[in-house]
This record gives sequence, C-alpha cells and structure tokens, in this order.
Amino acid sequence: MPEQSVGDRRPTAPLPGRSASPTRLGASQLLLATPASGDSSPVIIDLHCHYAFAALRASSIERFSFEPQVAVRAGQPAHPTEYDSCLSPRLRRRLVWRAARRWLGLPETDRELDQRLGDHYERHLGPAGPVERFVLLAFDAARDERGECPPLPGPGDRFGSDLYTSNSLVRDACRRRADRFLFGASVHPYRPEAVACVEEVFAGGACLLKWMPLHQNIDIRDPRTLGVLRKCAQLGLPLLVHYGPEFSLATQCPQYRSVRPLLEVLRGLRAEGQMPCVIVAHVATPVMPLGDQDSHRALLDALTGEFADAPLYADLAALATWTKAGFLSRLARRQELHHKLLFGSDFPIPPGLARLRWKLGRNYRQIAAVQSWPQQAALAVRCLGFNEIVLHRAAELLPNLRYFDQPATG
Ligand SMILES: [Zn+2]
Repeated sequence: MPEQSVGDRRPTAPLPGRSASPTRLGASQLLLATPASGDSSPVIIDLHCHYAFAALRASSIERFSFEPQVAVRAGQPAHPTEYDSCLSPRLRRRLVWRAARRWLGLPETDRELDQRLGDHYERHLGPAGPVERFVLLAFDAARDERGECPPLPGPGDRFGSDLYTSNSLVRDACRRRADRFLFGASVHPYRPEAVACVEEVFAGGACLLKWMPLHQNIDIRDPRTLGVLRKCAQLGLPLLVHYGPEFSLATQCPQYRSVRPLLEVLRGLRAEGQMPCVIVAHVATPVMPLGDQDSHRALLDALTGEFADAPLYADLAALATWTKAGFLSRLARRQELHHKLLFGSDFPIPPGLARLRWKLGRNYRQIAAVQSWPQQAALAVRCLGFNEIVLHRAAELLPNLRYFDQPATG
C-alpha cells in the first residue's frame, strides 16, 4: 500500500458550527431547525463516527508517545500500526465491503480511495444541521493474549485488525476542526502500559474510549481490562463499547459478543465505587431483525432495572439503517428509556430512511433530501418522537468538550 500524506488533503477552513446560518429545509422548522447563534441549549453531539482510510500515513503530525511512526519493513507482512489508518486485505474481500465499494463507486487505488474518503467525510460531517459536533473514533489494533499485534489479515486469516485508526491521526483532525470534531480515543487494554496510554489520551483531549471486544480481542474480565476501567472511572472518561452481533468487521472473538459479562463486571466495579460511565453501542441490537436479541434484552433490563441509577447508557448508532430501523421505531415508544439513550450515527454506515418512510410521514422527503447522513439520522430520531434528551445527553456526559478550543500547546 502506498505512502500518503494527509497534510494537503484535509482543508483547514472552519466548518459551519453553531454560528452558521440556519439551513432552510422546508415546512417543519421546529423539527429541522439548525441551532441559532446564541442558543443556550446543550450542543448536539454525534458520539459515534468512524474515521478510517484505506492506507494512510500522516506526515508531520504530533504523535502520542505510544504511537511512534513505524518504518515499513520491506518484504515482511504489513502491520496495522505502520499506518495511521488502514483497512485489511481480509476486510476488502468481504461482501459488505465489495458491495459498499460498488454502490458508492469507490476507486481502486488506495491513494484515490483515501482522497474519496476524505471528500466523503467533508460532505457528510461538514453541512449545518441539528448535529453540531462529531466524535471521530480512533480504533486500536487487535492484540493477542500476550498483547502483541499481528500483521494485517488476508482472506482466510483467523486473527488480525480489519480496521486501524491511530489516536494521533484523530487528535490531529480535531485540532484542525476544533469547531466540529471531538476526539474519541481507542487504547487496547492489553497494550503494554495501557493505563498510562489512557492517561495520555485523556490529557490529550479524549472525550471517550472506544472498544470492540469481539474484534479487538478484549475480555472485559481480564485484569488488564479492569485496570483500564478503574482508570476511566477515576478520570471521568466514558467507555463506548460494542456488544451484540457485528457485521462490518470480522467477529473473530465470538466469546466476547454477549453484554452479560460486562454487566457482571460493572456490578463489581460499582460495589467498589469504581464504575466508569459506559455507553453500549447500538443498544446491543442484532444485525438482522430476527437475530439473537439476548444482549439487547439484557441491556434494556439493566438500563431500566439494576443500573437505572448508575452511569450505564446505550447509543442509537446504526439504528437508522435498513436492518435495524425496526429497533429504532420500538425504542421511540419506550419513553422511560430515553434518558439512558444517546445519539450516534455510526457514520460512514449509511442510514436506510426508506425503511422508516411510513413512520416519518410528511417529513420523510425533507429528511431524505438532507445531504449529510448523520444529520438525516438525527432528524429521523427527532421526528420519530424521541425525547430531546437523547440528542442532548452526550454534552452532559463527555469530558474535554472545549479542549481543542484552546490554542495547541505543542
Ligand atoms: Zn461503529
């Protein structure tokens, strides 16, 4: 995969934020309104946006101490951490990736593909709308039990990272777009000195920590994981964690699919007074409507029962997609749950609004005409009757929201 520089690819002009002019979208002004300048309501955050490139090496960005620039070793299989962001050959052979590539008309070469992906982020995360800030997610590499990171997996390989995005790359994007982006960090708990790495990303502006245990190989009960969870509790750094089935990346550790061990661990940490804020992605829903709902049901029970008064939440990421839209409609009716739900889009996964057409009624056309997928998803959530707390809660929970407003200290 060729070396690339992102320095000339990511423009530095500020994106429209709270001071931008409201976008005129048509009749339902209350539903579709963009926050006006001076509006004192909490900022609306999309806390679940992936930030990934095919084969990107950033030049001249400041790096976290645990992410030094790694030289490419000729003749040896590439490791994910040789890049700042990359996709594995295994992922690129998966049907979901090939279908997305064809559907979006993505180019073949890595350089052109990364250019196109950069434009894609611009087009969807730039336009004004109800969502004013986007948490861009780093994605640490998968590690084995010893904490070692295997090479990028090819087709048929059993274990490796399908996706990697460095914390350094995401922090740099946040610095460039302090008006728009927030830093979602990712530190694998089996990394050497993982707790110190978490302290470093928090001091570097992280507003949450992202894990996908069934892909990255993270046992929530492992002592190294518990150490990081206790550190998150101390720092006030929320964990955004995936449980339930996954369809984009390989489920290479199916034993970490269920949310139940997480709930057990949180029970113990809570008893110690060391439970961090935990946000379970996608409300732990299955990929397909008739898929395994055990984690989803267990999570809903926990949110309304044992953890009703504890900092356990769930995000709505990807619930506006074609296969999960039924769950979104059902959750819209569960008003008693809304104070436990947070808005996220799972961008660049596209929403499937046509599936919600009947529920969105006369607002459907206006929402579908909005260019930005995350803005579409937020408008759909509002239109379906979710309490506004779902859109505003993240602004109360996430730390470091103003971190990048300050001039960089180097
Ligand atoms: Zn996601």
